[in-house]
Amino acid sequence: MNVTKRDYYEILGVGRDCDDQGLKGAYRKLALQYHPDRNPGNHAAEEKFKEAAEAYSVLSDSQKRAAYDRFGHQGVANVAGNGFDGAAGFPDLSDILSDVFGFGDVFGGGSRQRRNRAQRGDDVRYDLEIGFEDSMRGLSIDIQVPRLEECGRCHGKGAEPEDGLTTCPTCRGRGEVIYQQAFLSVRRTCSQCGGRGQIIRRPCKECKGEGYLKRERKLKVNIPAGVDEGTQLRLSGEGQPGVNGGSTGDLYVVLKVKPHPIFERHEDDLHCTVPINPAQAALGATVDLLTFDGLQTLKIPEGSQPGGRLRLKNLGVPRVNGSGRGDLYVHLEVRIPSKLTREQRRLFEELREVLPAENEPSEKGIFDKVKDYFM
Ligand SMILES: [Zn+2]
Ligand SMILES: [Zn+2]
Repeated sequence: MNVTKRDYYEILGVGRDCDDQGLKGAYRKLALQYHPDRNPGNHAAEEKFKEAAEAYSVLSDSQKRAAYDRFGHQGVANVAGNGFDGAAGFPDLSDILSDVFGFGDVFGGGSRQRRNRAQRGDDVRYDLEIGFEDSMRGLSIDIQVPRLEECGRCHGKGAEPEDGLTTCPTCRGRGEVIYQQAFLSVRRTCSQCGGRGQIIRRPCKECKGEGYLKRERKLKVNIPAGVDEGTQLRLSGEGQPGVNGGSTGDLYVVLKVKPHPIFERHEDDLHCTVPINPAQAALGATVDLLTFDGLQTLKIPEGSQPGGRLRLKNLGVPRVNGSGRGDLYVHLEVRIPSKLTREQRRLFEELREVLPAENEPSEKGIFDKVKDYFM
């Protein structure tokens, strides 16, 4: 073949004084761009890939580079002999491309370890609904978690113990297949056996070849007081089993809290509404309220207004990550009687005579002001 060869520096697009790091970077870029896997069937790309590989192979070797600098292609041919007739003369790409996802596998170097690499098991989510009161007080509860456990009969292999496995016919047990692509030998993980080198001839009777069994596992979950809707509790090591000795995943218990008929939660505070009648609002009153801390006597002050509220310190939600508790806010709702007895009517009529009439139109926004005052 008598083709004029391009200058190696020109091929890589670098200057003649480029250092090793610069060469590596330039080559990496080209190798990624023209890699046969990314350009299937593209002959021009394959040629460029080959050209870049050859240029890098020479320039990254200080002896060959010196010879090339002095004598050009002829100089390298003398030193390197016929270096490019096979994979032997090919620069080690796995080192350069290993951090690029999807490329490590193409090159033989890493694949043997890769397929046996320990993999951490998956994390598992478990949704758990608890009562509002439980979220206030905390509780300890047993849950049944479905999860995979390694099959005891086949120890995760999925094949009958004695003679369930047979050597993979595609790769003859090597776990990888080698094929010629341009001047490269490309090694790939065998797709039939997934790199294991063996395939299942007789599936394990216990797990039907899965290697794992679905089991219900009983776990005790300690839920601290103060958890909220969406709180996640992590149970370390209670997720799915790892592969090849990898660690077990975690179990995340995600809480859902049932609403309470009376109390509503905002952050660490509780809110509730207590109805009172106009007389209680005007004269003040004491009212009993059943809270999570037992019966509390509320002193409703004289002259309370609709929308007013009372604050009961430290009767709110316990803080999960910290100390103390939020507060309990009691909102007052003044209810005007809609039906009056004869006696009530007489008293209201008397009141009407003595109370100053409120017949001036309100200033716009008066309700907001009242609210601001009390909130
Ligand atoms: Zn195979
Ligand atoms: Zn099994």
